[in-house]
Amino acid sequence: MTIINLGDLTIESARSLLHEGKISARELTSIYQEEINTKNPELNAYLEVFDDTFAEAKEIDERLRSGEAPRALEGIPFAIKDNILIKDRICSAASRILENYQASYDAFVIKKLREAGALFLGRTNMDEFAMGSSTENSAFGATKNPYDPSRVPGGSSGGSAVSVASNLALAALGSDTGGSIRQPAGFCGVVGLKPTYGAVSRSGLIAMASSLDQIGPIAKTVRDAELIFDVIKGKDLLDSTSVQYQPQIPNLKSKKLRVGVPKEYFSVKGGEGIDKDVLGVINKAIETLRGLGHEIKEVSLPHTPYALSCYYIIAPAEISANLARYDGVRYGLYKEGKNVIEEYFKTRAAGLGEEVRRRIILGTYVLSAGYYEAYYGRASKVRSLIKKDFENVFREVDLLITPISPKPAFKIGEKIDDPLSMYLEDIFLVTANLAGVPALSLPFGQVDRGGVSLPVGIQLIASWFSESILFEAGKILESHR
Ligand code: GLN
Repeated sequence: MTIINLGDLTIESARSLLHEGKISARELTSIYQEEINTKNPELNAYLEVFDDTFAEAKEIDERLRSGEAPRALEGIPFAIKDNILIKDRICSAASRILENYQASYDAFVIKKLREAGALFLGRTNMDEFAMGSSTENSAFGATKNPYDPSRVPGGSSGGSAVSVASNLALAALGSDTGGSIRQPAGFCGVVGLKPTYGAVSRSGLIAMASSLDQIGPIAKTVRDAELIFDVIKGKDLLDSTSVQYQPQIPNLKSKKLRVGVPKEYFSVKGGEGIDKDVLGVINKAIETLRGLGHEIKEVSLPHTPYALSCYYIIAPAEISANLARYDGVRYGLYKEGKNVIEEYFKTRAAGLGEEVRRRIILGTYVLSAGYYEAYYGRASKVRSLIKKDFENVFREVDLLITPISPKPAFKIGEKIDDPLSMYLEDIFLVTANLAGVPALSLPFGQVDRGGVSLPVGIQLIASWFSESILFEAGKILESHR
């Protein structure tokens, strides 16, 4: 058996090893399972590790040996965020209310991964129903940052980001409604992609805010993220907002990229602004691109300052509607009561955590008669303006470069009792969801905090269906880190 250095392994390199017969899918699975056994008790990245992955790997090995052409992700072990349905498995969204809920079908993305030969190691921890930025809102305990276990890994896809960062999986799926792929990827030093809204089907994703939710890859390299995206994208009849992916072939007259630096992202109001070390990393990325001859241009997206307020009206509004289904009648937890109203109250009080209840209350309020226009109506108008900002700016530049988070990973417990400071974490992230444009986060530097080196990432944003520009620019930056 070939000696594998898991730290260096990528989907690309694993594929060659598997295809050349230098390692088997069973060996690869076992190596990851051993890592999980050793590290997961402390990190709490996985909520469940599947016990039949090895048997599935055996089928992959038979296929590999049969001489059949290997599929795109043949034998690649994945970790799956626990809000993506895998048939016959529990899917809890890290909530007590779905603790024992078993999925009756595969999500579209799971079907796609299966068809490409991927293996599933287990389901990963997250903020309950994907609401949060630290994975502390899980009903099953916080996930720890592998660089410093006293810090958060980011959220809500914290378990998926940690599993890739700590070699507990070669790649993962997450979901991103307001930054939940990009921020944990940034905090854990891995790559995360939030695709264009509609590029990936949401069928089989436990809904949070349906007009914002997208599933995307978390991986070690930009190329790996691209490989996964190519597999999971595409139109699905079960999600009417999904589309046949028509890549926008970038109109790059020269080979030089026009990179926009949106000034509003560098002068945040609220919180304490951007950490100067984080700013240093972004500036280094900008200078790297400039040094390679790409054009750097200051641009403006004037409605950015309203994005967070807009998101925290629209997202809770959709959350309150989507979560109405957890009533103890259809599925999930059930608590007996004297009448149906008492049953609802008891079930939801016992099954839903504090942040989820806060969002439902907020959302119900902003949708209530008399307030609907003042809140939801206005937020929808602001959303159109934010979208217009992007339309305008992408006439001038091919992509934007911004920070992911104002600071590196914060301490566990630091923000959990202060929802507003937690919401401020999402300040650079929610715009892409509100507008529906694709955004990539990739690691670019480190900062020292108390003798520990923490990763810092950068965000690249492109126009609708221009993921190819993100991959191109991401690869350039990756090779000049
Ligand atoms: N942190 C954001 C929120 O709590 C984003 C969550 C997400 O993208 N799922 O709403």
